[in-house]
Amino acid sequence: MIEISERIKAIPPYIFAQIDEAKAAAAERGIDIIDLGIGDPDIPTPTAIVDEMAKAIRKPENHNYPPYQGTPAFRQSVARWYKSRFNVDLDPNSEVLSLIGSKEGIAHACLSYLDAGDVALLPDPGYPAYQVGVLIAGGEPVLVPVTEENGYMPDLEAIDAATLEKARIIFLNFPGNPTGAVASDEFFKSAIAWAKKHNILIAMDLAYSEVYYDNEKPKSILEFEGGKDVAIEFHTLSKTFNMTGWRVGMAVGNQTAIQTLGKIKTNMDSGVFKAIQDTAIYALDHYEDFIPEQNKLFQERRDIVVEGLTRCGWDITPPKASYYIWTHIPSNYSSAQKFAIDLLEETGILVVPGTGYGERGEGYFRISITTPTDRLREAMKRLETHNVRFRETATA
Ligand SMILES: *Cc1c(COP(=O)(O)O)cnc(C)c1O
Repeated sequence: MIEISERIKAIPPYIFAQIDEAKAAAAERGIDIIDLGIGDPDIPTPTAIVDEMAKAIRKPENHNYPPYQGTPAFRQSVARWYKSRFNVDLDPNSEVLSLIGSKEGIAHACLSYLDAGDVALLPDPGYPAYQVGVLIAGGEPVLVPVTEENGYMPDLEAIDAATLEKARIIFLNFPGNPTGAVASDEFFKSAIAWAKKHNILIAMDLAYSEVYYDNEKPKSILEFEGGKDVAIEFHTLSKTFNMTGWRVGMAVGNQTAIQTLGKIKTNMDSGVFKAIQDTAIYALDHYEDFIPEQNKLFQERRDIVVEGLTRCGWDITPPKASYYIWTHIPSNYSSAQKFAIDLLEETGILVVPGTGYGERGEGYFRISITTPTDRLREAMKRLETHNVRFRETATA
C-alpha cells in the first residue's frame, strides 16, 4: 500500500469535477460547447516572440543549467521593464528572481515564509493556487472576504487581532481573478501601512497588469512609498504575451523576501531554460509593440459580453482589466453550480460557477473572453434565443 502524505490529503477535492462531467456528457450528446471557462488565451504567442525563440534555441550556450536566480540579462530586462512600465527602480542583482511561471513562485513563496500553523490571509473569492500552496506548506489559510460592496478590496481593518498575531503573509491579486477588480491608490497605501504595522508580507499577484481597457494601466504596489519594505510581487509573461505554455515569470520587490524565495528555489528547481529567458527579454523590451493591439481585441470581446448580458437584463459594470466578466447568477437561482450546469445543458455555454473560487463566490459566475470573437458573439446570441434572463420577465 502506498501511504499518501497528510499535505496531499489536505488538498481540497477538485471543484470543477462536476462541471467537467457535465461538459463531457453534453459533448457526448452532440452539443456544440462554447467554453468560456478557462482563462487561457486562444490567440497564439506573437510571431516576433516565437521567432526570437527559434534563434535562441540554436545557441549551444543556452543548453546547460541556467543560473537559478535568472540570467543577469533577464534580471536586467525585468528591471528595465519595471522602470519603463511602472517607474519603479529595481536592483537586478538582489530584487529580481526568475520564475517558472508565477504559480511556481506562489507555491514556493508559501514554503519560504510559512511554518506549520502560521496563518496566510487569502482573498475569497480568489485564485485557488494560493490556498493549495498554503496547505502544502502546512500553513493555515484564513479567508478574507472581498465583496462587491467594497469593490472587491479586502477590509484589512476587519481582521481580528488573534488572526493578525499568527499571520505571516497576505495574498492580494489586482487586477483580480475572478473578479477583474482593480485596486484604488488608497487601498495600496493603506495596505502598505497595515502590513508594516502588523509585520505581514504582502504577496501581490500582478498576473493581469497588462490586460487592461480604456488605456487605464493597473499599478504595481512597488509604485507606492514603502511598497518594497513589505511586498513581493509576482508577474508572469503568461497572460501578458499569450505565453501560458512557456512557463516564465518573475518575482520582484523586497530583498529579503526575494533572497528567501531564491533559497527555496535553488533547492527545488534549477531555473528557467536560458532560451526562454532570452525570448522573455525580447518580449519585455518590445512590450509596447504587442500590448495595445492585444488589448484592443480583448476590449472588443469584453464589450460583446457586457452588451450581450445587458440585453438579457443584467446590470454590468464593465471590468477595467483582466479576461473576466464576474457577475450575478440569474435571480431565480440560488446555486452558482446549478446555474452553470443548467446553462451548459440548455445552451452549450460553459461558464465557471463562482464557488470554484471560494464560498463567497456563491451567487456569481465568471465568463472568460479567451475564446474566438465569433464564438463569443454566438454565445451571446444563444443566451437570447434560449431566453436566459437575469430576471424572469413577468407574464401578463
Ligand atoms: C493565470 C494566473 C496565474 C498563473 O500564471 P502562470 O505564470 O502561468 O503560472 C497566477 N495568478 C493568477 C491570478 C492567474 O489567473
